[in-house]
Amino acid sequence: MEETISPKERAALQRERLNHQIERVKRNLPALGHRFAEHGVGRQPLTNLEELSSWPMMTKADLMAAYPMALFGVPRQAVARLQGSSGTHGKPTLVGYSKDDLAMWAEVVARCLVLVGAESGQMLHNAYGYGLFTGGLGLHGGAERLGLTVMPASGGVTSRQCLLLEDLRPDGLACTPSYALNIAEHLIQNHKDPRHLGLKWAILGAEPWTEEMRREIEKEFGCDACDIYGLSEVIGPGVAAECHQAKDGLHVHEDHFLVEVIDPKSGQVLADGEDGELVFTTLTRQVSPVIRYRTGDIASLNHEPCRCGRTTVRMSRIKGRVDDMFVLRGVNIFPSEIERLVLAQGQLAPVYVLRLSQRAALAELTVEVEALPAADAQAAVRQLQHQLHDAFGVRIAVLAKEPGSLPRSEGKAKRLIDERTST
Ligand SMILES: [Zn+2]
Repeated sequence: MEETISPKERAALQRERLNHQIERVKRNLPALGHRFAEHGVGRQPLTNLEELSSWPMMTKADLMAAYPMALFGVPRQAVARLQGSSGTHGKPTLVGYSKDDLAMWAEVVARCLVLVGAESGQMLHNAYGYGLFTGGLGLHGGAERLGLTVMPASGGVTSRQCLLLEDLRPDGLACTPSYALNIAEHLIQNHKDPRHLGLKWAILGAEPWTEEMRREIEKEFGCDACDIYGLSEVIGPGVAAECHQAKDGLHVHEDHFLVEVIDPKSGQVLADGEDGELVFTTLTRQVSPVIRYRTGDIASLNHEPCRCGRTTVRMSRIKGRVDDMFVLRGVNIFPSEIERLVLAQGQLAPVYVLRLSQRAALAELTVEVEALPAADAQAAVRQLQHQLHDAFGVRIAVLAKEPGSLPRSEGKAKRLIDERTST
């Protein structure tokens, strides 16, 4: 119902919820209220959503400065759950959830599971990490809400994951896309066919991935593989997911999360189809609400109706992080653009490492890859080198490593290694 109402009805609902949320934030988080006042906003209720584009934005730095619980906005006794994400100086950023927030979170994750093709009565193998990170418990709550049987496998120990998958034959798999490929590779090395698991769908996220990676995963497992997006600062996984019917952008749960895309430099709101930084406002979250939170994730929006019948705005796959983008001799490069070429090459394994080093004053990029067992490694390296040059116009070295020597993902893949002395 919430996913198929007309855009006009939805805008009215969002405006009402947003005005309510702003009043709550002003009441419970006076520091944010002062910031609104300094910018001359927030005195009157908004009459349309576009007015929000002149409001100040929040960043990760605000959450880090508020550690541990200064931006929760409620007494600790009203917090039913804590979760968090890694910070840069050893301290995580923490967020809180009321009982109502947990119910809302389970609801949006359940919707995501339906989007990717799950049905009540099926079984989910959940290989997202359980703990402070929101992946494991987030998927878990939504799956229970939908009426799935959940195997809380958590991350790591791939041999045990494979054993459980083979013995229990779940309908769905939840993990990072790189870990799904790790599981497939492990099965194949043990002379097993991942298709024999009988998976129907995989709900994959927590790291940027590409269409080429989707094709690879769908080929290996013979199932639908769809993208789920989220972050603890907004709720956790469940902010948006792809529908299995179109696989053409992630439907954002707009009745709870208002999304904008901005130019990361100027802060200006961008039009549909333009790549920029995703900015979210939580419309209903009671604990740890955010108003215009800058995610650091790069994507674009699409308001066209989707053939699945939902009317919610769709965001593109995450193209990268504002802070993952690196500059090589004046050219902006996102690691995902290189991944697309590595996976499309055909003779290379779907693993890679990008090593940035410095020779004299110049940055050098080496893409480390592994050839497939039967492939001509040198020919594959030469071909990829040409393709990289064509795509970026700068020289990028390609190095074939021993099969099996590059690190496999047990969660979020670390693909960019920056060895430059200064950046
Ligand atoms: Zn759709």
